[in-house]
Amino acid sequence: MNTYQNYIGGADVPAADGRTFTAFNPTTGGVWGTFALAGPAEVDRAVQAASGAFRTGPWGRLSPTRRGRLLMKWGDVIAEHADRIATIETEQNGKLFAEMRAQARIAQDWLYYFGGLADKIEGTVIPLDRQSIFNYTLREPLGVVGVITPWNSPTFIAIMSLAPALAAGNTIVLKPASQTPLTALKFAELCQEAGLPEGVVNVVTGPGGKVGMAMVRDPRVDKIAFTGSTEVGKQIMREAAGTLKRLSLELGGKSPNIVFADADMEAAVKGALTGIFYNKGEVCAAGSRLFLEDSIHDAFMGKLTERVKGLTVGDPMDKATRMGPVVSKAQMDTVLSYIEAGKQEGARLVAGGGRASVGNGKGYFIQPTIFDDVRNTMKIAREEIFGPVLSVIPFKSLEEGLAEGNSTTYGLAAAVWTRDVAKALRAAQAIRAGTVWVNAYNLFDAALPFGGFKESGFGREMGAAGLEHYTELKTVWVDLS
Ligand code: NAD
Repeated sequence: MNTYQNYIGGADVPAADGRTFTAFNPTTGGVWGTFALAGPAEVDRAVQAASGAFRTGPWGRLSPTRRGRLLMKWGDVIAEHADRIATIETEQNGKLFAEMRAQARIAQDWLYYFGGLADKIEGTVIPLDRQSIFNYTLREPLGVVGVITPWNSPTFIAIMSLAPALAAGNTIVLKPASQTPLTALKFAELCQEAGLPEGVVNVVTGPGGKVGMAMVRDPRVDKIAFTGSTEVGKQIMREAAGTLKRLSLELGGKSPNIVFADADMEAAVKGALTGIFYNKGEVCAAGSRLFLEDSIHDAFMGKLTERVKGLTVGDPMDKATRMGPVVSKAQMDTVLSYIEAGKQEGARLVAGGGRASVGNGKGYFIQPTIFDDVRNTMKIAREEIFGPVLSVIPFKSLEEGLAEGNSTTYGLAAAVWTRDVAKALRAAQAIRAGTVWVNAYNLFDAALPFGGFKESGFGREMGAAGLEHYTELKTVWVDLS
């Protein structure tokens, strides 16, 4: 079993006090890797390295075009190592190997997209009613960006923040989740291979409450890009007030997936399955509340429960598997407790409802689970479960479907299924969420902004709008008189 260190200033750095922690393979329940347990000393070193690289290192002197090219090269190197990255993702998280290999290649596309934007960060000249003044605006990098990521999609989410942050010219201290630290370390190593200067990307591994918080409090860190739970997002927001740090918060969700009676039923059933069971429901935008119009409810549920039987739960390395294990024992226990709550509250269990028996029996496998006749006020419909549990809620009219869909503290994503264009557009307008899919689910692209309304957070990642969040806007006045 390997031991992995922090990655600071281009070198492997153990914790000063020599402490380590272990990560587990959710498929077997066995110990999978040992990692340096960073503390304040390592955070200090990493921030110093990032700050030095920003202020005095070669990174700041590179032209935006060269910076962009380096990001593209980094993308190429990641794609060359796609198999290794996918193996790491699968072993540390339980995600399907085939999907993770595809995701490592998508990371390349994303780095090309943001690499291409690096030399298109433009200012403006604004017409004034003052003849003697020439003015222009500039978009400048913020400085050091602290990126804190969750365990559910380590590759995708790290690149989602790192690509725009680096394209804008910032430097990085990245803290991955303790369940899944290795892809971040691998990315930092590959950064170096691609030719990014030392200190531009640094990785510290350790618990959020200590390591993440030290980053949030550090006055030399200019922004925190946090992806994780709403609860921790609120703590970070409170703590960041101390230094008035820039923040992007990509938080939790309880997204409504609304199927109207005139929808293409086959497509909507497939969308409902992908919406909740893709990546075992460990997706921030998961369609965890399925709203079905009354008149199609029975037919739809017949097809859905039939299709769920075909979802093979098993070893995520196996090509035939459709759902691997949830990430950890703690997460498995949480999901099982929600399933219990659903039963207690009187929702009707129509599929799954417990652990799935796979392999040595020690992995964290859960059956794809569906509750029907759920009310929007029940705990399983209100709280983010972050696992393979679907709540089905019947509705009677367009107005009721939309009102119930919006009746949540979250606002990350939503989908509507209908053949009526006017209804689709009306729904897209009425839904209070950062992303609305029409006749689709779980589509993402580097070019399209993603982020939350309400308690799903603020700021945006991806797209040109996401890039702006990694810049400061400066206005220059020149008196020509
Ligand atoms: P989490 O909030 O527990 O942890 C996320 C990260 O924050 C981890 O690296 C953790 O170590 C760190 N952390 C924990 N406490 C901290 C603290 N006090 N200060 C600073 N850092 C701290 O979330 P999780 O369980 O890892 O991930 C699941 C959550 O992430 C879900 O709510 C999910 O919806 C959300 N998520 C959101 C998006 C999005 O784009 N909106 C994407 C993926 C996941």
